[in-house]
Amino acid sequence: MTTLIQNGTIVTSERTFAGDIRIEGEKIHEIGPGLPAAPADHILDASGMLVLPGGVDVHTHLDLPFGGTVSSDDFETGTRAAAFGGTTTIVDFAVQARGMKMRQALDTWWKKAEGRASIDYGLHMIVTDLPEAGLEDMDAMVAEGVASFKLFMAYPGVLMVDDATIFKALSRTAGNGALICMHAENGGVIDVIIRRALAEGKTAPIYHAMTRPPTAEAEAVHRAIAMAEIAGTPVYIVHLSSEEALNQVREARDRGLPVFAETCPQYLLLSVEELARPGFEGAKYVFTPPLREKHHLAALWEGLRQDHLQVVSTDHCPFCFADQKALGKDDFTKIPNGGPGIENRLQLLFHHGVNEGRFSLNRFVELVATTPARIFGLYPRKGTIEPGGDADLVIWDPDAEHLISAQTHHMRVDYSMFEGFRVKGNARTVLSRGEVIVDRGQWLGRAGRGAFLKRSARGGAWK
Ligand SMILES: [Zn+2]
Repeated sequence: MTTLIQNGTIVTSERTFAGDIRIEGEKIHEIGPGLPAAPADHILDASGMLVLPGGVDVHTHLDLPFGGTVSSDDFETGTRAAAFGGTTTIVDFAVQARGMKMRQALDTWWKKAEGRASIDYGLHMIVTDLPEAGLEDMDAMVAEGVASFKLFMAYPGVLMVDDATIFKALSRTAGNGALICMHAENGGVIDVIIRRALAEGKTAPIYHAMTRPPTAEAEAVHRAIAMAEIAGTPVYIVHLSSEEALNQVREARDRGLPVFAETCPQYLLLSVEELARPGFEGAKYVFTPPLREKHHLAALWEGLRQDHLQVVSTDHCPFCFADQKALGKDDFTKIPNGGPGIENRLQLLFHHGVNEGRFSLNRFVELVATTPARIFGLYPRKGTIEPGGDADLVIWDPDAEHLISAQTHHMRVDYSMFEGFRVKGNARTVLSRGEVIVDRGQWLGRAGRGAFLKRSARGGAWK
């Protein structure tokens, strides 16, 4: 099967140019001006459109058990929603619970994805239990293409690991080339503040934010970086949310350390006031780290512009308001942590980043596709447009007006964090490995067509 995408404006992280793309089977075969129409089984006219590499979202939580419930999108509904928004690759998280072997966690997550995912997916491994004898299990995971591990400095008693464990894991990557991803918040301190708040009868959603100060994030980011520096390895900070934490990353990078960080659309566009909405409405915005005061937003945008931050992911972890967020009606600590966003990342970043003049189209592609693919060992198969790479492509209409709403979104969740946001620019046609899976709002993909991606160790963070 041969497909020709004609007359589009091709955008990569480096160039913007007029050209056609010939796809043979699942791969990009040729790129150039005026490629001949024959022989092609399909011709897609991209006149007036941008042609982007498919988005790569390296932080999603589909079908995740958390706080007595399970995130409401599974691999079928979540990957379909991702595709509607122009994302064609995700890296989700398998969770090694205490007392469980990593191998068992990987098998569990493969089963969740199998027969359901409609776009390609990789997995990170969340490690909660790492005895001395478990370190070689990390190497086995890397051999399976699970080339990154996430460790938590927060959620004591559930996910948090101590500094010795973090340091051992970091040190192990010097040999196996994996990348350690850190959830950086000082869980011990936060826990004490939370207990105090509850003792004072402070149970509303806003106290979720009030009990997790930015300094607790900055301290943990600093500590994570220091441990990586001692171990002589790169480190990647997930969902960075505050100016103080950003300053830690910037300072480390200025010193030449291989430190990388992502932020998410919610930290760029929403602030702590959302949690103070009347009634229990604020629960829709309960996730960690929490939303911050307004002044942090501008700092994070500037961080993206100046490359102190390298990636925008979503941390998509949806819970329905009616019956899941409600678990914390009388106690904010029982509200499942997470929010939906897998479908809206490109729309929001294109509109608020490119249209509003904060960065270039090429930087946009770099943030949502190229750099995440590079850092997580998927490049150049994913994240760019070049011969030999997978034909994961988005024909993007830069003039399409779109109103973000739970009424029309494809995520399986009963609210949108960005309800009422009007954006200009949206995915028109989405191809995954040469196959059109979304076209003008129509779903043409199928559950189970997505493949597990074995990711390489020593990705971009190690260069
Ligand atoms: Zn997460």
